[in-house]
Amino acid sequence: MKVLAREGHLLIVGAGLAGYHTARGARLNGHTGPITILGAENRPAYDRPALSKAYLTGAVSESDLALDDPDQPLDVRWVAGLHVAGLSEHPLGVLTSDGEFWAADAVVIATGAAARTLPETNPGDAAGRPYVLRTMDDALALRDICLEGLEVAVLGGGFLALEAAATCTQRGASSVIVAAGEEFPGARRLSLPVGQALRAAHEAHGVGFASSARAVSVTSTAAGHTVHLGDGSAVAADIVICACGAAPATSWLAGSALRLSPTGAVLCDDFGATSIPGVWAAGDCSEWQSQSKGLRPVGHWQEAVEQAAVVAAGITGAEPQPMQEPYFWSDQYDLMLQGAGAIASADEVRIISGSVTTGDLLVSYLREGTEIGILGFNRLREVKRWRKQHQRKKAAVLAA
Ligand SMILES: Cc1cc2nc3c(=O)[nH]c(=O)nc-3n(C[C@H](O)[C@H](O)[C@H](O)COP(=O)(O)OP(=O)(O)OC[C@H]3O[C@@H](n4cnc5c(N)ncnc54)[C@H](O)[C@@H]3O)c2cc1C
Repeated sequence: MKVLAREGHLLIVGAGLAGYHTARGARLNGHTGPITILGAENRPAYDRPALSKAYLTGAVSESDLALDDPDQPLDVRWVAGLHVAGLSEHPLGVLTSDGEFWAADAVVIATGAAARTLPETNPGDAAGRPYVLRTMDDALALRDICLEGLEVAVLGGGFLALEAAATCTQRGASSVIVAAGEEFPGARRLSLPVGQALRAAHEAHGVGFASSARAVSVTSTAAGHTVHLGDGSAVAADIVICACGAAPATSWLAGSALRLSPTGAVLCDDFGATSIPGVWAAGDCSEWQSQSKGLRPVGHWQEAVEQAAVVAAGITGAEPQPMQEPYFWSDQYDLMLQGAGAIASADEVRIISGSVTTGDLLVSYLREGTEIGILGFNRLREVKRWRKQHQRKKAAVLAA
């Protein structure tokens, strides 16, 4: 692994969570050379989780979400509103869409992901486009419309879709229908009891669920939108929110020799090193070896922060901290759902306590009889304890 000279130029593409934490980690590890962060968005780097929750209800503002601390700003050069269009291996650097070349001694790719959309008929008609939720501009557009009295269709069954459904309900939409693509949202990924609990929580707030077929396209007319589902049924709505997942934002790497996964993620080892020496990747645009094996999740906040710290260590020659047990959370109404561990690789799920209807479910995930994960609804203490215990076990194994 090639360590960057202390005075070398570290160039980070993507002014998001992973980009910010890579720069922060490099400085903490004593890197003294220039650090440049190039970002496509025309605003200071911000944190995304609130965009589908508190930012949409107006409980937090843009300044609350800023990543950089105004009292102790990072010693980096931020360049906003600059779209990076290509990677150069020799000489090492990147090309921007306006034809500029930025030379670097190490490049970190941290371009995140882009919202997936569905094919649209009559896009841009009077009813407007379906909304997506990835950037602050996306969230701002949705925050600025009055939802009172409007019928909303939310497409997708992941946390983003469910958080959007909860927020629209709280903001007075006359009806909210979720086209989740499965009967119980999240059941395929997180188990049937979790899907049942999520559906029950939403139904208790008046949210409806469309048939279990996936949404396949949207037709817009002056009168509103029609969402077409795979089984031939349809859902009519005034507002459509497409929360059907995200794809790695790596189309700008198409001409490079970098190894990409079939979904377009930058393939890395478990230190964030890519197939090109001196080029690293972290966050939602990347797929690390343990993620390819299903041992760690993709697309969660903690993963991006920890990967950034590991990349910063690798670049600067510092000892990387071992990654914690995977962890994610989601807030919906008064429910806080938290999951920890290698949930995706479980072969058995057991309900430890609570029930699927009372908002206090706690489930355990096992592989070959050994507990490897936990998920709780409003079970903050239990999940915290589990994470601590497993972190201690992991540290003991590493120390042995
Ligand atoms: C609405 C929303 C809610 C979420 N809620 C939760 C949650 O509750 N819990 C949880 O665990 N996780 C949550 N997440 C996931 C978490 O926020 C992401 O995993 C995290 O933001 C990933 O960080 P990143 O730096 O990889 O990507 P991003 O934060 O997306 O940053 C990537 C940046 O790169 C820029 N970029 C892209 N292409 C280019 C280019 N060609 N040139 C220059 N710049 C470029 C983008 O504009 C963007 O600013 C949520 C995500 C979203 C979108």
